[in-house]
Amino acid sequence: MSELTTLQHLIGGERVEPASGESFESTNPATRQPLYRAARGNATDIDRAVASATAAFEDPRWRDLSQTRRGHLLRRLGDLIAEHAEELARMETLDNGKLLREMRGQLATLPEYYHYYAGLADKIHGDVIPTSDRRVLNYTTREPLGVVGAITPWNSPLTLTSSKLAPALCAGNTVVIKPSEYTSATVLRLAELALEAGFPPGAVNVVTGFGAEAGAPLVDHPGLAKISFTGSTATGSRIASAAAGRFIGSTLELGGKSPNIVFEDANIPNAAMGVVAGIFAAAGQTCIAGSRVLVHRAVHDELLERVTERARAIRIGDPLEETTELGPLAFAEQRDKVAGYVELGREEGARVLTGGRATDGGLGGYFYEPTILVDVDNSMRVVREEIFGPVLAVLPFDTEEEAVRIANDTEYGLAAGVWTTSLSRAHRMADRLEAGTVWVNTYRAMSPMSPRQGFKTSGVGVEHGTETIKEYTRLKSVWINT
Ligand code: NAD
Repeated sequence: MSELTTLQHLIGGERVEPASGESFESTNPATRQPLYRAARGNATDIDRAVASATAAFEDPRWRDLSQTRRGHLLRRLGDLIAEHAEELARMETLDNGKLLREMRGQLATLPEYYHYYAGLADKIHGDVIPTSDRRVLNYTTREPLGVVGAITPWNSPLTLTSSKLAPALCAGNTVVIKPSEYTSATVLRLAELALEAGFPPGAVNVVTGFGAEAGAPLVDHPGLAKISFTGSTATGSRIASAAAGRFIGSTLELGGKSPNIVFEDANIPNAAMGVVAGIFAAAGQTCIAGSRVLVHRAVHDELLERVTERARAIRIGDPLEETTELGPLAFAEQRDKVAGYVELGREEGARVLTGGRATDGGLGGYFYEPTILVDVDNSMRVVREEIFGPVLAVLPFDTEEEAVRIANDTEYGLAAGVWTTSLSRAHRMADRLEAGTVWVNTYRAMSPMSPRQGFKTSGVGVEHGTETIKEYTRLKSVWINT
């Protein structure tokens, strides 16, 4: 234990030991081998980080920096991420068990997050407003908010943190990040790269630690101007209440139980591939996982046969290996949660068509087989609740009307997939589905350029695109009597 590296907080551009004097261990979920220890943050560390971010926000080196120059820094950070792509991809694979292959794909697009907002930095501006009084000049400006708190989960720490960090810095804010206690390493490395890119000390701070000990004091900190959170709906609800009580804004990206809807006129081989990728990528640990497949009865057996055959052939193993198709779940409790849900499904009357067992993958890790549940209906908890694992529930339907009803019969509204060759049906479904993102004949497509928003309990506010800049700025109206 003592030979493990201990990662300290990054506050004001420096490595800072935690006030608690304590650290906690992070392990590789594929092998259960200890990886490193991380500082156990608490309210004192958060105070220090918010003070540092506040000082940086007020410092002329940041406050008076031209928007063009802010763009240059973001571009440089994107370039540095590209230079360090392999290192970052490996670190995240070791931390959360995501396939290195998947991580290399993510890292190939991650620089775009910074390059996109680099291009937007000098395009944030207000308007001149024509009022009824021509002797008065009225104009608006868009100001940064101040210190933004960013709290992120473990399933895609680099990407999900970048969805917040890039636009927040683009708009001129400073940031305190509290990464998930399961994945501290890559976010700390990202903050180091921000320093190297030339962001002033204190512009990007990271306090590691647990939700209750470091996350909650960040949310409650009076120095915070905004909170941006990605994680579970339960935690999001608490954060939304805390932010509302202090009249600060919150952007919340939360859970999902997304339907992948396959119509009788779909290209079935393509739909089957989309369904498999929709649920089994990242071992189902993605907010947008297509965890419910709704399939027209006429093509039910054919689709199910293809999906089952593919699920059975998925190679489970070391996520660092190029040929591995399914890595581990990120930690023991997550594996147990998935196993618990499959047991619950059995008790509720579901039939496990394939999978349904935990395995150590031959490596001693927290793996779970790709699992397909049939004989289910929309009232069962396995169909209603987010499992966040490789578990697919299959629901047949007879009419488009019924498909819409089942798809929308959920508290969530994050995403939906539609598989059809009918253009008019594609438009009708896109119109009627209660989901912030609708994919037709594809699944998982995402870009920092494309705004996204969770409907219902899946979120509040917009991430990505130009829209999100509004979430990180405030509007001022100035009247000048000429
Ligand atoms: P989580 O809510 O348990 O934790 C998320 C973060 O919040 C962690 O950093 C955690 O330490 C912190 N936290 C926990 N309790 C807190 C508190 N009381 N106050 C402040 N911070 C607190 O979620 P998780 O298990 O890490 O992530 C999985 C969830 O994230 C899933 O529900 C998934 O759908 C969701 N998610 C959503 C999106 C999206 O874009 N909509 C993307 C990825 C993941």
